[in-house]
Amino acid sequence: MRIANVRDRLCIVTSDGAIDVHIASKGRFPADAAEVYDHWSEFREWAEAGVDAEATAYVPEDVGSPSPQPRQVFGIGANYADHIEEAGIEAPKKPAIFTKFSTCICGPATDIELSTDRADWEVELVVVLGTRSERISADNAWAHVAGITVGQDISERRVQFQKPIMQLDLGKSFPTFGPMGPDLVTIDEVDDPDDLPITCLLNGEVMQSSRTSNLIFDVPTLISYISHHVTMLPGDVVFTGTPSGVGSTRDPKRYLQPGDEIESHIIGVGSMHNRCVARAD
Ligand code: ZN
Repeated sequence: MRIANVRDRLCIVTSDGAIDVHIASKGRFPADAAEVYDHWSEFREWAEAGVDAEATAYVPEDVGSPSPQPRQVFGIGANYADHIEEAGIEAPKKPAIFTKFSTCICGPATDIELSTDRADWEVELVVVLGTRSERISADNAWAHVAGITVGQDISERRVQFQKPIMQLDLGKSFPTFGPMGPDLVTIDEVDDPDDLPITCLLNGEVMQSSRTSNLIFDVPTLISYISHHVTMLPGDVVFTGTPSGVGSTRDPKRYLQPGDEIESHIIGVGSMHNRCVARAD
């Protein structure tokens, strides 16, 4: 199953377009995508039983984040070996967790507002939780996931790497620094949720290309680890880490500029297109 947040309404995505869930369920399920994760198992059961309703067409600009107001957003640092190598840092022995404050979350076609000249791209597999999760075992972790989608962990490197203490959370949380979408895809829709091709293009040029099987800590390990420390809530979002090829480790370094077009792809899951603009004062 694929769902999307189309014109601020929760929809099931079919080959014909979008089916409005609130209307098709005669009010049983909410119009607001943010609320569906609190009823995820009932919703999924209803949706997968077959929904007899007409789909309407839409364009990419109509789509918002499939989890538009997550209560918590977890980011994972240094989670691909090639990215660790390019960044010149030591491989972590445990997942390195930070947060993106949730107001940075935006849609898959939203313009990225550049406040500074040090913003960088990071394509990532993004996971949305479908249950309240505490002390989950890795063996069972995928069962707690509502679905997966594509995301960009846009990162302001000057703020992130400031001395004497790094400020990952601030550097990664400027408005529009968390585009994600378009569809939230249940894992039965993909061949292997632990091995998905992931790429990022900037103005048509490939910047990042890897597979999620190269994650040092895979999705089940991340959910298990986080949920042994923090109670994870339905609709919570996990940005699982980025492969090599970000701008700040290139020679010469390269940062996002107004007019740049970022394409983010995970084959079998979806694609995002975001344009960079100068942030209006
Ligand atoms: Zn990241």
